[in-house]
Amino acid sequence: MRLVVATRNEHKLRELRALLPDHELEPLPHGVELPPETGSTFGENARSKARAAAAATGSAAIADDSGIEASALGGRPGVNSARFAGEEASDGENLDKLLREVPAGGDRRVAYVCVLAHVDEGGEERLFGGRCEGTLAEEPRGTGGFGYDPAFIPGDVGDGCTMAELDPAEKDAVSHRGRAARALRKWLSEAGRAAA
Ligand code: IMP
Repeated sequence: MRLVVATRNEHKLRELRALLPDHELEPLPHGVELPPETGSTFGENARSKARAAAAATGSAAIADDSGIEASALGGRPGVNSARFAGEEASDGENLDKLLREVPAGGDRRVAYVCVLAHVDEGGEERLFGGRCEGTLAEEPRGTGGFGYDPAFIPGDVGDGCTMAELDPAEKDAVSHRGRAARALRKWLSEAGRAAA
């Protein structure tokens, strides 16, 4: 089915298109404003973005809110992952700050978290979550993916490679977004919303 994706992040759109191949994912039309991410949970932020996109377009919409949680930082940056080094910070600046703050030789456990919100044409909402456990590399490696991928070593694939060293299908198989998208895809198909 046709789904508007409430994001301006090209990387997320590309990953979601690969993860939901039996649906027609459309970028957010120009001029549609997304609400500021002021929620204290991934679910709240995902829900408000999907709601805004569905209301503006009259179509079913999905939104991804995601981030990285570092055990040594009590779960930070979490919902603030995109703004960790400041409101306008680049992916590289956010990653550098994380690598500076997590103590070398200390607890390097990290987790990626994703909540996907689906809001249908009638405004009904549903949330799907995914989580991926890993370890923070000492230094960035690899050129694939985006965001924190050059320093995220997933626990269950890739023999110590970072997400940025894996090919996209390998990342999708274990990633937080992959897990959440598979749950959404299953629900869409059970709800009879499979084909475009
Ligand atoms: P938001 O969901 O727009 O608040 O942004 C999520 C932020 O978390 C992104 O800007 C990235 O920094 C980070 N992030 C989320 N998912 C991923 C991923 O799959 N790889 C790397 N970084 C991610």
